[in-house]
Amino acid sequence: MRNIVIIGGGAAGLKAAISAAYKYRNGGAEVTVVEKNNRPARKVMITGKGRCNVTNNCDLDTLIANTPRNPRFLYSAFSSFLPQDTMTFFESVGVPLKTERGNRVFPVSDKAVDIVDALVNTVKANGVRIINGEVAAVLTENGKVAGVKLSNSEALPADSVVIATGGASYSVTGSTGDGYRMAKALGHTVTDISGSLVPMNCHEGFCTRLSGLSLKNVTLSLFEKGKKKPVFSEMGEMLFTHFGISGPLVLSASAYVKAGKEYNVLIDLKPALSLDMLDNRILRDFSQLQNKDFANSLDALLPKSLIPVVVKLSGIQGDKKVNQISREERLHLCEVIKNFPLTVTGLRPVEEAIITRGGVSVKEINPATMESKLISGLFFAGEVIDVDAFTGGFNLQIAFSTGYLAGQNV
Ligand SMILES: Cc1cc2nc3c(=O)[nH]c(=O)nc-3n(C[C@H](O)[C@H](O)[C@H](O)COP(=O)(O)OP(=O)(O)OC[C@H]3O[C@@H](n4cnc5c(N)ncnc54)[C@H](O)[C@@H]3O)c2cc1C
Repeated sequence: MRNIVIIGGGAAGLKAAISAAYKYRNGGAEVTVVEKNNRPARKVMITGKGRCNVTNNCDLDTLIANTPRNPRFLYSAFSSFLPQDTMTFFESVGVPLKTERGNRVFPVSDKAVDIVDALVNTVKANGVRIINGEVAAVLTENGKVAGVKLSNSEALPADSVVIATGGASYSVTGSTGDGYRMAKALGHTVTDISGSLVPMNCHEGFCTRLSGLSLKNVTLSLFEKGKKKPVFSEMGEMLFTHFGISGPLVLSASAYVKAGKEYNVLIDLKPALSLDMLDNRILRDFSQLQNKDFANSLDALLPKSLIPVVVKLSGIQGDKKVNQISREERLHLCEVIKNFPLTVTGLRPVEEAIITRGGVSVKEINPATMESKLISGLFFAGEVIDVDAFTGGFNLQIAFSTGYLAGQNV
């Protein structure tokens, strides 16, 4: 009887367990998941703001295009378990799904707990044992896996071990980077760890004053310093915070930030209006407010808390009468509204990131099996590997695809 031990009962670990259990459904192996939390998949519970964007209903090329780090490594994993397989799986175990904007797939119930329950129930129904314990190390003998050692010193023998311990973000969910330490102890290279899909620190002091202000239907463009073409430009929602900016647009933009480069952001506060249209709109507003102070003339155009900041950036005195504002000044005001500037001083720490950038080097993992090239019988799955994707359900798909492939090969 083969002993298969999976370290971590998150998205990747549970999928690996199901895949291995199916493979050995006629017997021949005992599959055990060791999870240090008393409830598995705590991170999955908070995905998609509690709704769980479980995958993206797209093709292989789109999966690859949405994976900025090491996409080619994932080719086999994605090919062997596509988003449509994820969808078929959940529907077959009683979780109806729906596809929303951008092909994002959610449970019809809008409840991440349904995804977690489906995974855990399927694991249990297929005879997989779930142990509540913390793995401290992977044991090896002569370059082969021999088992795992728990932090209470108990040892579990194993012929194959899957490290599916997740990344280093939202550590309260259990992903405290243990897998990196285990991999390093076995001679694996772990690339630099930082966050992706993460808020940004900004230089401008006014961010603190604007903290809590959410902007909807704005266009955020991210520029590498000195470059004219943005590396990211999308319309959507963002938020000011005490340290800078956050929200869906900012998290997506952060995936394009490269280490060692400087960036700035321009926000188009009125993307539906061209410069001319905006100027006409302001002219119309001004014609009804002739004797008002400039600082009191923008209420119909901008959120209240943003007005003093825009007034300052426009260079027009706040107490200047609207009828004294020159065309040149007005055009500069339009420019500020269409290109509201922010200087990015860095990304927030990995702890606050949706996904970890960096991890166990893909050069040392066989992409066709997820097995270590250094230790026989050792496999990796999920966020612990040096891969990450954009928002849209792609990261969970990585966990499911790599988990599936590892489970097939243990
Ligand atoms: C706020 C938030 C929202 C997100 N929303 C989405 C979304 O909507 N769609 C999407 O595709 N992705 C989303 N993600 C990303 C997604 O959650 C991850 O990509 C995915 O959970 C990674 O799966 P994993 O199994 O590799 O790691 P995890 O899900 O983190 O699981 C790792 C498990 O290993 C356990 N573990 C760790 N160390 C040990 C040890 N030593 N012994 C035993 N057990 C251990 C942990 O307790 C944990 O349960 C979101 C992430 C966050 C933080």
